[in-house]
Amino acid sequence: MEKKEKKKIGLTTMIFISLILGAFAGIVLHYWVPEGYVRDTVIVNGIFYVVGNGFLRAMQMLVVPLVFCSLICGSMAIGDTKTLGKVGVKTMGFYFVTTACAISLALGVANLINPGIGLDISSVETVEATAAEAASFADTLLDIIPKNPIQGLAEGNMLQIIFFAIFIGILLAKRGERAASVSQFFSQFNDLMMDMTMAVMKVAPIGVFCLIAKTFAGIGFDAFLPMLKYMGAVFLALFLQGMGVYQIMLKIFTGLNPIKFIRKFLPVMGFAFSTATSNATIPLSIETLDKKMGVSKKISSFTIPLGATINMDGTAIMQGVAVVFVAQAYGIMLTPVDYLTVIATATIASIGTAGVPSVGLITLSMVFNSVGLPVEGIALIMGIDRILDMTRTAVNITGDAVCTTIVAHQNKEMDRDVFNDMARV
Ligand code: ASP
Repeated sequence: MEKKEKKKIGLTTMIFISLILGAFAGIVLHYWVPEGYVRDTVIVNGIFYVVGNGFLRAMQMLVVPLVFCSLICGSMAIGDTKTLGKVGVKTMGFYFVTTACAISLALGVANLINPGIGLDISSVETVEATAAEAASFADTLLDIIPKNPIQGLAEGNMLQIIFFAIFIGILLAKRGERAASVSQFFSQFNDLMMDMTMAVMKVAPIGVFCLIAKTFAGIGFDAFLPMLKYMGAVFLALFLQGMGVYQIMLKIFTGLNPIKFIRKFLPVMGFAFSTATSNATIPLSIETLDKKMGVSKKISSFTIPLGATINMDGTAIMQGVAVVFVAQAYGIMLTPVDYLTVIATATIASIGTAGVPSVGLITLSMVFNSVGLPVEGIALIMGIDRILDMTRTAVNITGDAVCTTIVAHQNKEMDRDVFNDMARV
């Protein structure tokens, strides 16, 4: 028994050791191992690429079936549409408010640090910016209803999957015994997916090591130097949001201990950091909230996939700082009305940002357009965005988990004994 517990603690710690060792290995490879076949083809684009992405793909493989089944089970368990509607409205409310807070915080921090003032634009390595058109708000809204649910599932369109699964869940609850075998199928399949999540997580330390080592072997530090102030401003705002705003909210709304929350949730943040995808983090997030924090899957199976799709506070923070940075670098004055416009558009952009790497940069063009900033400005920050993408993804999913915990607490779907039990770290 004791042995088993030791092993559990081992996995969490090992993910963190892997993060650090991976970064270290990547930097050593970047600076001290000469370019060539062995370093580039065999190690970085061979072993690291295959093992790291193999792990990531295995987690992504679980997302659609898991979200689909667990949402059906969750909405079936809640049963009545009134409660479901209440949970939905409350969750969306929290998501909007936290995003608006995040972007305001980012604008404040950026105006204190002034990242773009005195920047020598020619010293920054630029990557050609391709500003894809972001979909309009009306289309984003309409797109929630799948014309073909099978296509929605095949494409991993989260909002469509959520819509269809909730619909099924509600009707299954209404049918009760008359659909017992269908309900049972989904709930057993859901358990199977959870087992698979845990099985894949066993190789997480190796996968995380390879993903991080490959990233750092590719970027090194050189490109960062002229951009340090911009990066510092983003990091600071992300830190304040993740460790300050969320934890204060958790304390005020639930009375739960934020330190315990952070300790238990750290491996999920580490996973999000190494993969830079909120979507791939969904299974681990639901599992951690359930097993370690006592948050009922009835709530999390609904709020976590929704959050991974529409609630991107970390992304909004990057966008807020980027607006100030590019405006300063190009010598453009922003008015108070511009700032309000940025808060509104970045909140909408956060909804339209998919939980996969780098999409925040694409929706950034929508924010730039809204206040007339040159979209070419995105080229300035593209080269160094990966490391920020990793960090903001960790904040994105933390925001979802905090809101979920609060909503679960308010709906009495939370076991505080499990949350307080520090043997479950
Ligand atoms: N990578 C982010 C996420 O998955 C989205 C982004 O900001 O690009 O949450």
